[in-house]
Parts: sequence; structure tokens; C-alpha cells
Amino acid sequence: MKKSTQFIHAGAHPDPSTGAIMTPIYQTSTYVQEAPGVNKGFEYARSQNPTRQALEEALAVIEEGRFGLAFSSGVAATDAVIKLLKPGDEVIAANDMYGGTYRLFSKIFQKFGIVFHYVDMGNIEHVAAVINAKTRLIWAETPTNPLMNIVDIRALAELAKKNAILLCVDNTFASPALQNPLTLGADMVMHSATKYLSGHSDVIQGALVINDKALRDELYFIQKSCGAVPGPMDCFLVLRGIKTLGLRMERHSQNGAVIAQYLKQHPAIKKVYWPGFEDHSGHAIAAAQMKGFGGMISFELQNESLDAAKKVLSGTHLFSLAESLGGVESLINHPASMTHASIPREERIKNGLSDTLIRLSVGIEDADDLIADLEKAIQLSLH
Ligand SMILES: *Cc1c(COP(=O)(O)O)cnc(C)c1O
Repeated sequence: MKKSTQFIHAGAHPDPSTGAIMTPIYQTSTYVQEAPGVNKGFEYARSQNPTRQALEEALAVIEEGRFGLAFSSGVAATDAVIKLLKPGDEVIAANDMYGGTYRLFSKIFQKFGIVFHYVDMGNIEHVAAVINAKTRLIWAETPTNPLMNIVDIRALAELAKKNAILLCVDNTFASPALQNPLTLGADMVMHSATKYLSGHSDVIQGALVINDKALRDELYFIQKSCGAVPGPMDCFLVLRGIKTLGLRMERHSQNGAVIAQYLKQHPAIKKVYWPGFEDHSGHAIAAAQMKGFGGMISFELQNESLDAAKKVLSGTHLFSLAESLGGVESLINHPASMTHASIPREERIKNGLSDTLIRLSVGIEDADDLIADLEKAIQLSLH
């Protein structure tokens, strides 16, 4: 089945009791059993829920995997993956990734004796250099948040396989419409379903997609034992969001390209981070492993003062100043004080994330209106 058809039909089965075409919201905590141990496959809603089951099936289909698992947030999905490990195990992660992932690793799991190495994954040699007998997991994100660096998933997967290490890719920025890491050799895909999958800024949710049955069973055991499961209403919202994912990502990518070009030629802009530019260091790999470049763009002004950046950040109207991304409406964000504030300043600067970097989540509005909005804010910063 082609992707655009998958988004509409994945996980969708008429409800057996009524024929309802949309999966009902099974708002229940438990299920009546016919006799002790005799049930319809549903015992208690932390372990099974039909709305969640439909969503998990859809997630697997659209990510080209065999099994999906839904969690109460993106970080809860990440948390479940790290709980596969034990004290002394080592993880290789990117030095440029979502701030909340860094916080979970460094502030929560490090104290349980798991060792994290943060490297520049733009160069596979850097990953290979820290592999040792204790390395169990590589955690990658591509494109990265917020510097839009590209990691070669296929090369990373080959390196991981050769060393019997698991590879998990945070595919939040690309979404399953633009990139499918399992087809490139990854073992697990993680999503903050809060972002493009739901698409309407109305739900917090996470997801994992896996091919290996044993790995799926281990993660399912963690999901039900630790209990970070999403409610049925939220599962319904993400199922609904997925139906338009293909169309939305097409428009996000179109608008993203127009705005990236506009910013690049602008005399007041110093640098634009977007993998669709031919001179972007990861462009060739992005073009090979992605079906589009999406709607995420970061940039820096020529004027490197924080004051000028703040004028842009407060000067837009269509771009709302907010954390998060991937909704139909455009957002503007200041990573240093917002999404990435949990990363120590020294670390941030060392990895290229300046105090004045501005990140855009380009929505699906009219591109001309979005440009006019940005232009007005950039002009404000010049005075
Ligand atoms: C938002 C985000 C997360 C965390 O997901 P939540 O749903 O907020 O818990 C992880 N990775 C990336 C790339 C994100 O943008």
C-alpha cells in the first residue's frame, strides 16, 4: 500500500459491535470477564485498550514496522527504551538533540549507573570511537533539534549491527511521511506523537515502532509494568491526526522550502539551518533518506545581540511564540531559553547552539502571509 493510502486506512476496522467507521473512544478502565481467566483479550486498560490497540496498529503500518506501542508522552517512550538497559550499560547519544531527552539521560538515568556518551553523529567515526564491550544502545535523532543536522541512519545501523548494539532513531522531526528508519536498518523508532503525528497541538503522546517480536515483548512488558500509557481520548486524537499526515507534511515541506529560501537571501539573516539547501553538510544524505525536508528551520540574525533576536521572537503574530512543533499553525521558539534550557550553556555553545538561534515550526498557512509576518518582525529587529 502506498503511503498516502496507509495514513487513511492503517489500523481502521469498522467497530465490531456497531459498524462505526471511526474507532470508538473506549473510555473504560476494566473489562467484564465471562469466568475467571475467560475474557475477550482485554483485562485491564493499562495492559490493553481497543482505541490504543487501533492506534498501535496504525503506527506500525505507517512506520513500515511490525509492532507499535503508544505512550503517555514522547519522553515516556524514550524512558521505556532506556529501561531495557541495566547499570553499567553504555549508550551513545547525539550531542545535539531534543533537550528533554538529554535531561532524561543526564539527570535521571545517569544516577542509576547507565553511562551516556554524547558525540557529533554527523561523522560516524565519532560514534565508532566510543563503542566498547558495554555499549548496548545508540540513540540518534535526525534531523536534529534545533540545528537540523543530518545523521546517516543506514551507516549508523550497519555500525550498530556489526557490534550487536541496538539503534533507536527519534523520528519526530521527519514524521513517518518523510522518513522510515526501520527500512534503513534501525531497530526502534521513537516519536513524540505530540508533534506531527497528532498535528493539531492538542495532545501529549509518544510512540515506539519495532520489528523484532522479542524486543516488542520486552518493551510491552515495560509499558504495562511502568504504566506510562496514553488515555483512549488521546489515542483517538492521534488516530485522527494521522489521517491527514501525508497531506500536512506535503504542505509543511512546501512552505518550509519557500521560507528557508526567503530567509537565506535576506540581508539581515546570517545563517539558515535547513537540510534542503545543497550546501547543507547533510544534504546528500537527507535527500537520500528523506522524502521531503519538512517544516523545521532555524536561523541566526546578522545582528548577534540577544535584544535583536528577542524583537523577532516577540514581533510575529502568525508565528506564535511557543515550545513544541509540528502543528498546523506556525510557531517560533528560542531554544536557548525554551526547549533547550535544560542543556548547560557551555555544552550548548560548544555544540553550535547559540544564545540567539531562532527556531521555526512552519505551519500549513499561506506562505506569503507567513513571509509577510516574518518580514515585519525582522524589520522590527533592525531598529
Ligand atoms: C517534543 C520532542 C520529544 C519529547 O516528546 P514529548 O511528547 O514532549 O514528551 C522528543 N524528541 C523530539 C525531537 C521532540 O521534539
